[in-house]
Order: sequence, then C-alpha cells, then structure tokens
Amino acid sequence: MPLDLALLNARVRTLDPDRPSASALGVQDGRIAVVGDDAEVRALAGPATETIDLAGAAVVPGLIDAHTHPFKGAIDARGADLTGARTIDEVRRRLTEERARIPDGAWVLGFGLGYDVFAATGARGALIEDAVGGAPAFLLFMDLHTGLASPRALELAGVTGPVAFDEQSEVVCEDGQPTGELLEWAAMDLVRGAIPELTDDDRHRLYVAQLRRFAALGITGTHAMDGSLATHDTLRRLEADGDLRTRVVAPFWVTPDTPRDEWVLLAGHRDASGERWRGGVAKFFVDGVIDSGTGWLVEPDTEGDGTLPFWPDPARYREAVGFFAGHGFQCATHACGDRAVREALDAYRATGAVGVPVHGSLRAGERPGGRGTDGPPSPASPGPSPDARVQHRVEHIETIQPEDLPRFAAEGVTASMQTQHMMDLAPDRSDNWSRRLGPDRCDRAFLTRAIWESGALVALGSDWPVVGLDPREGMASARLRRDPSDPGRAPYDDQAIDGLQALLGYTRNAARAVGEDHRRGTIRPGFDADLTVLAEDPVDVPAEDLMGVPVVLTVVAGEVVHRAG
Ligand SMILES: [Zn+2]
Repeated sequence: MPLDLALLNARVRTLDPDRPSASALGVQDGRIAVVGDDAEVRALAGPATETIDLAGAAVVPGLIDAHTHPFKGAIDARGADLTGARTIDEVRRRLTEERARIPDGAWVLGFGLGYDVFAATGARGALIEDAVGGAPAFLLFMDLHTGLASPRALELAGVTGPVAFDEQSEVVCEDGQPTGELLEWAAMDLVRGAIPELTDDDRHRLYVAQLRRFAALGITGTHAMDGSLATHDTLRRLEADGDLRTRVVAPFWVTPDTPRDEWVLLAGHRDASGERWRGGVAKFFVDGVIDSGTGWLVEPDTEGDGTLPFWPDPARYREAVGFFAGHGFQCATHACGDRAVREALDAYRATGAVGVPVHGSLRAGERPGGRGTDGPPSPASPGPSPDARVQHRVEHIETIQPEDLPRFAAEGVTASMQTQHMMDLAPDRSDNWSRRLGPDRCDRAFLTRAIWESGALVALGSDWPVVGLDPREGMASARLRRDPSDPGRAPYDDQAIDGLQALLGYTRNAARAVGEDHRRGTIRPGFDADLTVLAEDPVDVPAEDLMGVPVVLTVVAGEVVHRAG
C-alpha cells in the first residue's frame, strides 16, 4: 500500500537512538511507515500520496504540552488580556478598551492579571471601578487561583461579607467588607455564578477556536489538567465533528468536596476514550499558589501565610489518592509549595506501588500482538512501555526541600514542570513570589536541572492559560531561566537545561509521563504520525531566537492539522 503522506527534503530529528536523523519520512494509516532518505521514501509513494517538500525545515516528534487547561482556559481567557500589564494604569487602560468593545450593561471580563500590580495598594475591586464605568467586572489573576471583582460585581453576586468554605478559599474582607479579592475557586465561583451563562454552542465555538491555536503552535498532544464527565462529552463532540486537532489526556479533577459516591462513579469511566483522547488519570490540588499565600509550605512565608493545605483534611486527600490509584488511575497532584510536594510524594508512597498498570484505553487502536514484549516496539505493532506501568506525577514543584528531591527518582514519580512561571521572577528576588518565599527557598525554585540530573522523569508544559501556550516560549524559558523576550534580564539561577533536554521534555518525556512513549514522542516506524515541523531545528537554534522560528506544519495521526501560510 502506498504512503498517505511523504515529507521530503527535511532535517528529521527523531529522538530515536537507533536512527537519530534522516531527511525524509513517510506516513501510512496514521502511523510512521518509513524514516529514511528522500529516495527511500519516494519509492514508497504512489499517485494518491501527498508529497511535501519541506525545503530543509526541521521535523521533530509532535510537541506535547504536559500541563494545560484547554477547555477551562478557553472559557477563562475571555475579555481583556491583562497579561504583562505591570501597572494599575495599564490594567485600567486595557479594561476601558474592553468596556468600549462590549454591549452596555455586559460584564467586563479580564484574565492574566499580575500580582505585582497591587504591591502598593493590595488587590481592591474599587481600583478598577472607574475604568469599567461602574459595570460589573470580574478579572482573573494570571494563575487562575485568585479573582478580583468590582463593587458592582460583588453586589450582583450578593457577596457582602466573609463566607465560610469547606476548602481553603476566602472572600478577602476588611472591616467586614469584601475588598473584591477572592482567593481560590470556591470564593471566585460566588461571583462567577452571577455572570450570564454561555450557551453550549458558544462554549463549543470557543473550544474549536482554541484547538486551532494549539495546532498552529505545533502542539499535537496535551494533558488537560482539569476535567469531568462533561469534558468527556466535549471531547466526544469535538472528535465526531473532526475538530479534535490535538490529542488530549483528560484527567478527572477530584476536589475536597467531591463525595465518595462520585469517586465510585468516576472510577467506572476510567477507560473512557476516543481515537484522540482518553481519561484514566485523577487530578488533585493539594495546595494553591505561592503568590497569594495559598501554597502549602514547610515554614510560613514572609507574610506568615502558606501554613494550610488545600484539602482541610490531608488524610482525606491521601484516601482519595489511594482510592483512585487502587482503581488503576494514574494520579497527578498540583503541588507548588515544599510541604505540598512532600504530601503528594507521601500519598503516592502510601499507595504501595510505583506507578499503576497501563490500561486498555492506553492501547486503544493498537493492533494485537504487540503486548507484553520486553524489547523495543516492533515496527508493525508498537507494544506498551517495557514495564507497562505509568508513574504518578506531581505538577509544578515550585520549591522543594532538599531531602525530598531524590524521592522523585527513587520512588518513581514524574516531575511535571512549567518554567514559564519563572518569567516574571526577578533575578534580584524583588518580585512578589520571591519576596514571599525568601532567599533560601528561592534557591530551590523550579529545580528543573537538579531534578532531571537526579534521574527523575521531567515532563515540560505551559499551564496555559496561566502563561502563554507557545511551546517555543516554554522550551526557551527552560533554557534561559528568564523571559526570552527580555534579553537584558539576567537568569534567575543556574538551573537551566539544554536545547535537547527542553525538546525531550516536550516530546518523549511528556509522552512517557502518561505511559504513551511506546507510540509517541519519538519518530520511529510504527509510532503514531504526530509531527511538528519548524523552520529551524529547535535544539540547534539559540534559545533567544526560538520564539521567531516559524511553525511550518503540524501533523496528528498523519492528518495535516495546521499548515503555515
Ligand atoms: Zn494548572
């Protein structure tokens, strides 16, 4: 059978030690059929083969962002983009623009707000009231863990004073009056509940548009770090419509108030999957974020915060991890603070197993015959990972105690890290995050290199929409330890990884982080034809220049889902 797609005249970086480079490859039936030179691949082409001359562009395994919020993000990242606005005047200017753009009486929304904007005043809704002309306004801070509501928004939501929650969450009040600052989701939801609902079709349009952006940035797969049964329905509809341009692993988000009955219900959906998506993962938050004092720390931060877990009863978190791990789920836990990281590691250790077996859904669509083999995957039928188990993972790991660092490698836990979070950190430690932690803990900030060198598996991702989605920025920030667009800035520390490691973090390691490296993350015959084509090789190009390298082509399961120009 002739090839469906032939990519010629390229620099192929396979990440396959058996054949690290090639100039061409061919795709058949959604999989890589041949990796070789132009003549070899041409020989397998037929009249129906789509042949693309890449004119020397670089082909790498399809980029996988190991931590995003694609669906929540598509809804949250609406309204004024406040990313990078460093002063309250700049925030006001963008809000006034947004107010002029939307109908009278509509809610003014915004996202990407920075904490440093309010360093002198504290976060207060009254500060934006004039800019939005008295309209109800709700702004999300860049980490999605804090919201800011205008006085009119609080009024419409009926929020008039302190509120008690089951989880770590707070309506910040002064003299009994809400300031507009809302810590964590339960508090934010009080106000968000007053915003007029989107229709299902509105949401769907936002999702489709967002998935096009994923494809345009060369992303072929992502781990969507929040999800529910409704997310599965969304994925089914997107796939049925041919709009699922990115592969999605969609964990269930288990919160402190998720009742045990629901655990049982969710467990029944462990193997839910489609051609390009699957579940099988449970996601927990064991703390919040350092910036707002909700990160869980071994010692309080410099403002006396950071002493509380997100689960008021950590024993129940451990019980939930035990339940889901015991039902064959991979577990992923958001843990920013050092105490939270330790808690997640302890909970995983208490499950008694390093990792959980790879389940049927992981092998969905594979041909029989390749299972249980110990050797490398055969070209015709890639088998499961050699040990057929997948490790639990900890997300973020913004700071860690030295004695806990070796536990990732020793206890078989994946470190899922997002270095774009460091882009606003100041090398002199004057930013809000660094000030709160103080110098000692800043020396243990986002220890990408140290954790990598300890032998642990490090997967990289963005955490979009908390930061930008662009994997070129993700790779560059991992290599630079600063904002790649700010060449004058000194790096935060010496924890940089190199260009090859950054690419591995976005490809093979990200695939391995969900037990899929036996069929993705490497360009190799028999593997899925998920490919990213960039004008330059992202490993060779200096990190400073990476953002300017065009994405030429994005291929998922052999389908061209994005083509430049
Ligand atoms: Zn996240």
